[in-house]
Amino acid sequence: MKSIASGLSRRFFLQTGASAGLAGGLGLSLGVFAADKIKPTAKSALIVVDVQNCFVDGGTLPVKGGAEIVPVINNLATVFENVVVTQDWHTPEHASFASAHSGKKPFDTTRLPYGSQVLWPDHCVQGTDDAALVNGLKLPNAALILRKGFHKDVDSYSAFEEADRKTSTGLAAYLKARGIDTVFICGLATDFCVAWTAMDARKAGFTAYVVEDAARGIDLNGSLAEAWKQMTAAGVKRIKSSDVYGI
Ligand SMILES: [Zn+2]
Repeated sequence: MKSIASGLSRRFFLQTGASAGLAGGLGLSLGVFAADKIKPTAKSALIVVDVQNCFVDGGTLPVKGGAEIVPVINNLATVFENVVVTQDWHTPEHASFASAHSGKKPFDTTRLPYGSQVLWPDHCVQGTDDAALVNGLKLPNAALILRKGFHKDVDSYSAFEEADRKTSTGLAAYLKARGIDTVFICGLATDFCVAWTAMDARKAGFTAYVVEDAARGIDLNGSLAEAWKQMTAAGVKRIKSSDVYGI
């Protein structure tokens, strides 16, 4: 809703500026344009979810276009005082791997004690090159690298809470202890780890934005549209990197 409203107001002011035919009018419209953007403050954090070799071409679970978001994220990070990076970080034979369940293949679904679980190809095994952050990712100001999914029997799409919906990763407490109340989320994949992180951010009381062009989805059986529906219902705001002040 906000992007539609702000798009209208931008057009209105640009047209007004143009019809005035004055440099001053144009200056005014550009001023309004900038003021319309979302400005990250000291209370905002950028959360960069799982931009790892496993999730880009050449990795074990590549997300289509995954590497394309790297320059977008690098640019985005320059306007944030607080940057957090996450890594999917599984044990060998992790419960989320199809190979750990006889008779199952990747992208099947199974029941685990905590509920339904999509089974993935083996990916992001602790300490492997596959689990390393993508080489081109340049986040010199990142203060925290948070690893998740390291309990053998529990997956963790969310950077806040594991899939058993009981075990905390500690991220909410970390952010709150640092006075952060707003998170901007990007990374891989939009419909799994990004979506779950964004919805848990809302549950923990944060204002949450997902930066659409700084994320890519897997889209397994319509999961991307479903994730946006659920995120929107949870109050997650869908924006583009160009909506952020300074980008
Ligand atoms: Zn995983």
